[in-house]
Amino acid sequence: MRWGAASRRRCPGLQSIPIGGRIQCGPIDSRALAAKSGAPAGWTWRLADEKPDRVRRRGRKTKEEKSDWLMWSFRVPPAPYRESHYALGPGFCCICGQPVYRFGWQVDLWGRGANRNAVWHAACVVAWDLWTAPSDHARVLKRLQQRRCAQSGGRLWKTAEVDHWVPLFRVWLEHRHTQWPSLLGFWGVPNLRVINRDVHLTKCAEEARSRRDSAGRTADP
Ligand SMILES: [Zn+2]
Repeated sequence: MRWGAASRRRCPGLQSIPIGGRIQCGPIDSRALAAKSGAPAGWTWRLADEKPDRVRRRGRKTKEEKSDWLMWSFRVPPAPYRESHYALGPGFCCICGQPVYRFGWQVDLWGRGANRNAVWHAACVVAWDLWTAPSDHARVLKRLQQRRCAQSGGRLWKTAEVDHWVPLFRVWLEHRHTQWPSLLGFWGVPNLRVINRDVHLTKCAEEARSRRDSAGRTADP
């Protein structure tokens, strides 16, 4: 059996892309699954009002005391099915909202029905990992860019850093009403790039200035 055919059998539904292996197929697949579910009715992307309390109270929290999954940072991709109000419970993936079957697969190859002990697809674990820690995938991203800095075009140095083409603060400010799961595209490979550290520092300084300016504008009467 050819390698491609074998790997597709191991991991059904994943797209076959010659480079990158897992990170190439995981997020694409996860978004496709999420597209089957769509956003829950009435859901919008919100952030928590404040950072989670660092001082944990002793003892178990009751259900009412537990804070919702809402994130305080726009850097974390929106995941409606992780919010307690929209959670589908065991047997459904908390990222894409589709049923989870044996071994975390998204298809029921064994005809055993949904796996009531699972709330993640294997593919969605991979996708979430890339979305929330893209720097861990720098090696593959560098290769996709043929080791050239996406901003300056120069050679990428060892210290090069992963960055988003459309910065995530801008996603929150300007694109937050984009339909979910299309919104997740801003965390995926097409919005990721590797740039040299000096270029990144300059860009971050510019971004900070632009954020200060827009905060100043909204504070104006
Ligand atoms: Zn999933």
